[in-house]
Amino acid sequence: MGIDAGGTKLLGGVVDEGLAVHHRVHRLWRGMERQDVLDLFVEVVEEALATEPEPEAVGFGIPSLLDRDRAVSLECVHLPLAGVPFRDLMSERLDRPVVVDNDANCALLAEARAGAARGAADALLLTLGTGIGGGILAGGQLYRGRGSAGELGHIVVELDGEPCPCGSSGCLETVASGSAIARAGEAAAAAQPASGLGKASAEGREITGALVTELAGEGDAAAVAVLAEVGVKLGAGLAGLANAFSPDVIVIGGGASAAGELLLGPAREEMQRRALGPNRDVRVEEAHLGEEAGMLGAALMALEAR
Ligand SMILES: [Zn+2]
Repeated sequence: MGIDAGGTKLLGGVVDEGLAVHHRVHRLWRGMERQDVLDLFVEVVEEALATEPEPEAVGFGIPSLLDRDRAVSLECVHLPLAGVPFRDLMSERLDRPVVVDNDANCALLAEARAGAARGAADALLLTLGTGIGGGILAGGQLYRGRGSAGELGHIVVELDGEPCPCGSSGCLETVASGSAIARAGEAAAAAQPASGLGKASAEGREITGALVTELAGEGDAAAVAVLAEVGVKLGAGLAGLANAFSPDVIVIGGGASAAGELLLGPAREEMQRRALGPNRDVRVEEAHLGEEAGMLGAALMALEAR
């Protein structure tokens, strides 16, 4: 069973070796206490245990920095799990093998086995959502360093940039996440009241990354320009990553990847403009597995840990 514990929702599934999903569970959570979160994990696994096939092991993808042994959640911005000896606690309560990893690592593993990075030895993943998650595949293996590698969203791209939830400022996350698209959309709505974005704002609609993408898809020039502006900033970050890792492919996932080529086209061009010669043709591709990538990757890890 794989469980992807996002900041606002949980998605779980019982997955077989062919990656077919037999039983899905969804839960929304917000503002839950630590004990309630841990109890909910046990509840969704017990629910799945009553179905066929019975899960033999459970993998968790959590939005957390982990220690080298992937046993303890060291820091966790979106869930109250900091300091929790997560793997031992859950394996005791569930009485079966438990693996835990960062949620973006799980998503990258799934994309590497069955998605946009299939066949790649070296790949990077960036998930553009509220923040930016990241993962590194090197020589076919997830690269974890001392445990917390792959935080690709927290590379500084603007020395005097906006504060970042990580405590630094000017991180790639502050200029190229879904939240950054929303902020750029708000600024464009204020500057261009006659645009689709401006009208939506005047109607009292909340300017989100998803709304910017929707209006851009309908041809609103201001929204298209917002995605291009954010895409250029993303591309500057990608150039640095391409130079640092020279991967076969950089996979872009997360909610904001729904903007597709309106975001990735300008990002790719900017990367090509800035990267060193041989790194200019690093492939930049939209993720294939959508919101189930993290759940599938967590299940893959559990399958391998049986
Ligand atoms: Zn940061």
